[in-house]
Amino acid sequence: MDVRELRVEGWERVLVAREGDYHCVVAIHSTALGTALGGTRLWRYAAEQEALADALRLSRGMTYKNAMAGLAAGGGKSVMLAPERIADREALFRAHGRCVEMLGGVYITAEDVGTSPADMDVVAKETRFVAGTSDGIGDPSPRTARGVFRAMQAAALHRLGHPELHGVRVALQGCGNVGAALAAQLAGAGAKLTVSDVDPAKAERVGREHGARVVSPDDIYDVEADVFSPNALGAVLNEETIPRLRCAIVAGGANNQLRETADGARLLERGIVCVPDYVANAGGVITGFGALSGHPPEWGTRRVDAIYDTVLEVLRRADAEGISPHLAADVIAEARIANG
Ligand code: NAD
Repeated sequence: MDVRELRVEGWERVLVAREGDYHCVVAIHSTALGTALGGTRLWRYAAEQEALADALRLSRGMTYKNAMAGLAAGGGKSVMLAPERIADREALFRAHGRCVEMLGGVYITAEDVGTSPADMDVVAKETRFVAGTSDGIGDPSPRTARGVFRAMQAAALHRLGHPELHGVRVALQGCGNVGAALAAQLAGAGAKLTVSDVDPAKAERVGREHGARVVSPDDIYDVEADVFSPNALGAVLNEETIPRLRCAIVAGGANNQLRETADGARLLERGIVCVPDYVANAGGVITGFGALSGHPPEWGTRRVDAIYDTVLEVLRRADAEGISPHLAADVIAEARIANG
């Protein structure tokens, strides 16, 4: 295997590994709090530079997410450049397993966008340093949804004066794994749901099962609600959408909801309390870390539920300092990382 080590300021290690069709950037951002955890993404990139940029951004994000989740874990990420045509998937993931093994355990990988538990089973043939295999915790989405639910309760207490979601109106974008599980939990708590999905069948199913009103993907931003909950794609909070929102709170599971840092300030100006996505959506990684570390399932449940306390800490700090919750979360995470 051809392995190039790049020096990138602020990252502990960055490797570019190639072998046949296998071409992957592995970025280890920080092990200050523990072994770096972060999935393997398989995606089409025009060039290695793009994959590198993604690996750097995502690995750094994992450091912050794990720190805010209170885990003794650092952040890393693998970004594999998908070949034109995948002729031998097993060979790709075998090679990846050998690459992860070479790092000697400072990094543990798992599935992510474009990869599955079956792929991680192949990685596991070459290394122990892999989670998310098919005999693991299974689909993390219900745990992620639980964390988002807890984040929403905390934001409700902070902004609406009560943590109960009974009667609270939620406009929910994206009825996939996380969105549908969240909708079920919200309906169980008596929230009033309006939902959307680009796949009408998914939205209609949630509508049918939980008595939710269904609107078109574009109309969801204009729904009058207490909470707007993004559970689809990133960058949905931006210069065009923020002025349209008619809600007091944003809390959802989607990654990287702000298109740019300035969007945090835009929400603040509008008086909308936005729960930082990486704090709200840590339920899956918390559960995975618990299983990896041999903790009983109740440990995971307790820690996912504690997202409530973390969100309150972040929102109170943001208020006290007059900054956006995203900035407040970053400051808290950085202090935790610096203190090891
Ligand atoms: P998913 O693919 O199951 O669901 C996404 C849904 O969003 C799909 O139903 C899709 O049709 C819909 N969608 C796409 N574009 C849309 C649009 N413009 N408007 C409305 N709906 C749209 O994915 P998921 O696992 O539910 O993850 C959702 C988000 O949460 C992603 O951003 C993911 O990165 C993030 N996340 C997921 C987990 C997890 O445990 N699954 C953990 C952390 C973060």
